[in-house]
Amino acid sequence: MELLERAINLSSDAIFLVDEQLRFAYVNDAACRSLGYSREELLTMTLLDIDPAVSSEMLRRLERRFDDSFTGIVESRHRDRGGRVFPVEISATVAEHQGARFGVCVVRDITERKRMEERLREREQEFRTLVENSPDTIARYGPDCRRLYANPRLVTDMGGDLARILGTTPSQFPGGASAQEYENMLREVFEHKAPRNFELHWQRGGQEHCTHVRMAPEFNQSGDVTHALAVGRDITEIDQYRRKIRHQAFYDSLTGLPNRALLLERIARMVAGVSGHDARRFGLMLLDLDNFKEINDALGHDAGDRVLCEAAARMQACVREGDTVARLGGDEFSVLLPGMRHGEDLAAVADDILLQLAKPFVINGQELFVTGSIGIARYPGDSTEVGSLYKYADSAMYHAKRLGRNNFQFYEKELTVRSVSRMDIEAALRKAQQNEELVLYYQPQIELTTRRVTGAEALLRWRRPGHALVMPNDFIPIAEDAGLIVDIGEWVLRTACATVADWNRERGQSIKVAVNLSTRQFVRHDLAGSIRRILDETGCKAEWLELEITESLLLEDNSEVAATLAALKAMGLPVSIDDFGTGYSALSYLHRFPVRQIKIDRSFVKDMLEQRDKRELIKAMLSIAAALELESVAEGVETLEQADYLLAHGCKLAQGYLFGKPMPRAVFEQSNGDAADSDPRRRAR
Ligand code: C2E
Ligand code: MG
Ligand code: MG
Repeated sequence: MELLERAINLSSDAIFLVDEQLRFAYVNDAACRSLGYSREELLTMTLLDIDPAVSSEMLRRLERRFDDSFTGIVESRHRDRGGRVFPVEISATVAEHQGARFGVCVVRDITERKRMEERLREREQEFRTLVENSPDTIARYGPDCRRLYANPRLVTDMGGDLARILGTTPSQFPGGASAQEYENMLREVFEHKAPRNFELHWQRGGQEHCTHVRMAPEFNQSGDVTHALAVGRDITEIDQYRRKIRHQAFYDSLTGLPNRALLLERIARMVAGVSGHDARRFGLMLLDLDNFKEINDALGHDAGDRVLCEAAARMQACVREGDTVARLGGDEFSVLLPGMRHGEDLAAVADDILLQLAKPFVINGQELFVTGSIGIARYPGDSTEVGSLYKYADSAMYHAKRLGRNNFQFYEKELTVRSVSRMDIEAALRKAQQNEELVLYYQPQIELTTRRVTGAEALLRWRRPGHALVMPNDFIPIAEDAGLIVDIGEWVLRTACATVADWNRERGQSIKVAVNLSTRQFVRHDLAGSIRRILDETGCKAEWLELEITESLLLEDNSEVAATLAALKAMGLPVSIDDFGTGYSALSYLHRFPVRQIKIDRSFVKDMLEQRDKRELIKAMLSIAAALELESVAEGVETLEQADYLLAHGCKLAQGYLFGKPMPRAVFEQSNGDAADSDPRRRAR
């Protein structure tokens, strides 16, 4: 017994017995220690002295429990001698001893445990507040990927129906491709026991959303993954911003088409064979709008922009999904056509594009005509190197320009041999003028009845170092596109005027010089003013100069052009319509503008004796000219028969190899030293 008592006194829990009046009948050492009373004192006290919290109700229950043989654990609060009240856990039972009943109590001070519990509760509350108010979505999943918890944000995001959210897997609810992707990731987390970070793109109500998801495994003590926690952050805005940046880097802001960078990227992907297109075979087209710069100059940038947008839309409509129409800058476009096997396929697309572009553009109620020149190179047939492919397409496009624009050309090997890359020419042309590589040739114009030389057309040539003499069709389109034509044109005018002034100073009968003008010289440049200066400087009289323009200029219906023409007329310089009959043939302009002369294009004269319809057209042109009292000049006269026929039908003036090819000034002066002497019949034979 004594042994037992020693053991009881060793206990750190307070142990005491109370009799049925709740008086202490026995207390151990720990009870004295924790309550601060001596054993003697305690044995005079009752449970109520140290447990003021025991309510009457509690007491009744205790009393009753003394009846039942009660065993149980209750919590209460004890007060020590110093008045400190502390929480306790009482394990109590009822025992009988020598006919009396006692309550046996083992009392444990649970101050520390309570404090821990309180702290835990606070922490949990904190976390709960955080989780429940988090702007991120938070979900917890079991190993079968069923949702065990969803925070309010997630519940709202998923439509609010908690019953459908909890207990289901993502693929069951909400389901769909992105939910499946999410679930696959979740499975990986369980399988690989490692966290995952990824971005999930999904749709709701037709809107794109993007969420950054972090998934983390939760382990038990033996290292198994028991749960996975998934936190999702809405990064839709960031994603949109990212896309916008990407868009700006890869798309043309005006037309919305892919830009050069994206085109090159797509080509690179195709060459690498990662785009899934047929056997790494594709066509690359370069397209340049033929007369865009004139429109831009004449009607302003807004109109120009609208033409570009409209042209972009038309091109886009000509291609299939998977093809790329890109804007490379300015009026230059490119079309990437993957999987095209035959040249005919590419030709059909090019044809369609040209056809669509040729339809009138209606801008500000005004009809404009735009055409395009297309060059096509094929991968891998022409080259397997992207850089050369691009250059080849450019050469082919330039070739198309030379062939009169509004057509398409495939790259052919000889194009590189001739090295007619448009880019090379433009660079060389920029230096040509200051290096004095440009020269004027003169081709005689004669009066058919007398065969007298009445004038000469000044035709530009380029003595390009290391090249054969470059003809105007090979570089004037480029000079026009590059904006070099204004300076070059002024040089041509000055040189031609100086020449004709020299000629006429030395001879009795005056002859004329005809100078070709580009449309670009008419807009935003004071053409009339500059001609006036040139006439002054060179001593050339206005009546010695003939200005050749093309019909398309008059069709521009531009007030600046009209004003310039009027100013020229006032200076005694009416114009001559070059290449007559090849343009749009809207004859109304002939009397609306101060036109003095038409030049019947060589294409009509060429086969006139073989083709009846050509003869009919020539007759029609001559009678129109006669009716409007315009002078007519036939171009490209090569045979006496042609000359005779033309004369017989009322054509008074002619130009052509029959009478003389374009020749350098010195040669012209030699062979036409005495104009009256030059009898073409004699020379032609
Ligand atoms: P264009 O004004 O129609 O000039 C007539 C063209 O026909 C010239 O070609 C001339 O050499 C050629 N030609 C003349 N007679 C005959 C013939 O009997 N048979 C054949 N087969 N051809 C003949 P070219 O010199 O190559 O000039 C081509 C075009 O370049 C000119 O056509 C003109 O539009 C343009 N051009 C020439 N010089 C200038 C210039 O200084 N400024 C501008 N803006 N354009 C120019
Ligand atoms: Mg001409
Ligand atoms: Mg002509």
